[in-house]
Amino acid sequence: MATIITDDCINCAACEPECPNTAIYQGDIEYEQDGVKHAALSADFFYIVGDKCTECVGFFDEEACAVVCPVDCCIPDPERPESEELLIERARVLHPETEFAEGFPSRFSEGSGGDSAAVDTAVGDTASADGVAAAPAQAAAPAQVAVASSSGRVEKAVRPGNTVVASGNPGERSEAELGLGYREVVDMAEEPLGGVTSNLRGLGALLLAPLLGALGHGPKAAIEAAVGNRAFFNVQTSTALNVAHNFILYPLLTMGVGLALGARPFTEDDKGWIFIGVVIALLESMARLRQGLRGTPVAEMNMGASLYGFPLGLLVQPLLERLTETGSSGAVPVEGFHGGEFEEKRERQRRYGDVYTVEDLPRGYRIRLELPRVIPPSATRDELGIGDEMPDYDLSVSVQGDSITVKGSVADEKLRAIYGVSSACPADFQTRISLDEPLGGYRQRYSDKLLEIVVLKQAS
Ligand code: SF4
Ligand code: SF4
Repeated sequence: MATIITDDCINCAACEPECPNTAIYQGDIEYEQDGVKHAALSADFFYIVGDKCTECVGFFDEEACAVVCPVDCCIPDPERPESEELLIERARVLHPETEFAEGFPSRFSEGSGGDSAAVDTAVGDTASADGVAAAPAQAAAPAQVAVASSSGRVEKAVRPGNTVVASGNPGERSEAELGLGYREVVDMAEEPLGGVTSNLRGLGALLLAPLLGALGHGPKAAIEAAVGNRAFFNVQTSTALNVAHNFILYPLLTMGVGLALGARPFTEDDKGWIFIGVVIALLESMARLRQGLRGTPVAEMNMGASLYGFPLGLLVQPLLERLTETGSSGAVPVEGFHGGEFEEKRERQRRYGDVYTVEDLPRGYRIRLELPRVIPPSATRDELGIGDEMPDYDLSVSVQGDSITVKGSVADEKLRAIYGVSSACPADFQTRISLDEPLGGYRQRYSDKLLEIVVLKQAS
């Protein structure tokens, strides 16, 4: 029977990185199967996609999620009894790259329930060819399954967007990495797109600039980034055009009000109303450009919204969302919470490689992945006297098709001893991000526990 998660789940996220089939997803996050995205099966709790769950048959002697769950809410689904034959067949379909040798690990096998087994590893103890999720941190038995190739069908839970991988210890360059400077590759990725679609989008923005300039600074900056060509649209010019536009619009509107109240057109009657419109436009432009009046350079000014900028923003919101889609970000289970506990949660997710952002650039993607910063408190840490600052991980990055995978390993043997006994501290992680387009070369840089990767779109 497949495993299910009951509503006793406390959303601690410990199980998700343990699953060898990437069958576990955070509540309200859509899941992927065979490259197709599906609606989340649970809005509130982590959930398991039954058709991707093999009860860990083929990988471990026990259900890995159940082993780490602190509240024992990963249980067999009584509604779905399944045989070992069916489950290993499912594992073969999910992992076409993997050969499951005779005597594969299984919860059905004699003596199961204790030791876990692992597949051949590419990074430390982590299960895996590309496309296969990280194995539980405590999985330690010798490899029993041969990895035949690197193609895979198992997708990682991601927010809308996609994944990529890089390689090398921090600062090292892999063979697949571009031999250019990081900044140079960023410039290439940021280069505006040519082509009919891009130019049409730019022309549309150019024509609407006097109106779109009424929006707040943030939306305008987002449009500028989405258009990718400042000649077509930029925050400063669109704001200036809108200011000029409002010197026509507001007098016309106030004149309209005057006429509605009985003033006669093109006579002395409506002059006062027109004057009111001009005054409103003048006061508004002074308020919007006040930073410039105080000497702030134009490029650094916050160009605020006009009087109708906010309702206009609501009106064009769907269009803005489409224009400014910027990919995915890693999941931190507690959101909207600030304070020490949130940082602790975030630090924990860093250990799973789950704290990252993906920025969609015109010709590439920029990924920023945060690495753990502190060694969690434990008696072993104190005994070893190694302090609490986390040493740099060994990192590897690889790009395949439209996905990028980052593998991280705790290199220090003393630290691995600590991590080996705690399910909340995996010694290795693997993060695979699927992106929207086939990928080409990439460049990475690492500093201060932040791995940055810029990868070019193949079409570029
Ligand atoms: S039992 Fe194993 S395969 Fe199924 S969801 Fe749990 S970890 Fe994944
Ligand atoms: S380990 Fe258990 S409590 Fe934590 S998210 Fe998974 S199912 Fe929920």
